[in-house]
Amino acid sequence: MSNRVTIYEVGPRDGLQNEKTLIATEDKILLVNDLTACGFQKIEVTSFVSPKWVPQMADALEVLEGIDRANGVTYSALTPNLKGFDRAKHALADEVAIFAAATEGFSEANINCSIDESLTRFKPVVKAAKAAGISVRGCVSVITDCPYDGAVDPTSVVHVAKALAEMGCHEVGLADTIGVATPEKIEKVLDAVLQELPAELLSGHYHDTNGCALDNIEVSLDKGIRLFDSAIGGLGGCPYAPGATGNVATEAVVDHVTKLGYYTGLDVEKLGDVAVFARGLRR
Ligand SMILES: [Zn+2]
Repeated sequence: MSNRVTIYEVGPRDGLQNEKTLIATEDKILLVNDLTACGFQKIEVTSFVSPKWVPQMADALEVLEGIDRANGVTYSALTPNLKGFDRAKHALADEVAIFAAATEGFSEANINCSIDESLTRFKPVVKAAKAAGISVRGCVSVITDCPYDGAVDPTSVVHVAKALAEMGCHEVGLADTIGVATPEKIEKVLDAVLQELPAELLSGHYHDTNGCALDNIEVSLDKGIRLFDSAIGGLGGCPYAPGATGNVATEAVVDHVTKLGYYTGLDVEKLGDVAVFARGLRR
């Protein structure tokens, strides 16, 4: 099995989206350009959501159009619906992400509809993306614990993950959105999902509220997963997940997996500088 680990840098989107201070567009562009210089192959740049709901992402178009692109790097955006997808396509997103929750409570609170309604809503987005040659990553929120519904049944994670894969997502992200999962819980849900989907199709997205994210990555590595989301400087939280702190910090993930004998291909020194810059943005 490969010892190459790919980090999907989500700081500019999942991170900044949840910061209270409004970040200047030029700082966001600078951050993405700096991340490109670190050697990331996948960067989640922004989110095409309604500015009414997420004012921090109101400049999505300007940011995606303003960055300097490097060859071979995937610059992605979150697109919850067709309207968002059309804007992302216009701004030449290489990939788009759709998010479905594993619990009805989180789905209602986060996107105002049931799980199955959300999956139905995503179908035309995936279809339009396929037609435009844009890849789609599907993400499952709250895979172990939900702030509204409590402990999550792995069966419902499998249901949503499978639906996203069958819809045409080339990758399915599994997210501990509130950052309270333990390695035991992650192992349990991964075992369930791996019965239906191969490890190569999966990625891990772990917040670090309870300080278990690195252990959760480790158990995921043991299960064959080699793609992980993280945010430079540990930016962010989740507005719909009360109490959640940021994503696991990219620099901590790189350090940890390197010690475990894996290879990320990232410029560690530069990463440290960008982490300082990113943390400075929160003020
Ligand atoms: Zn997240």
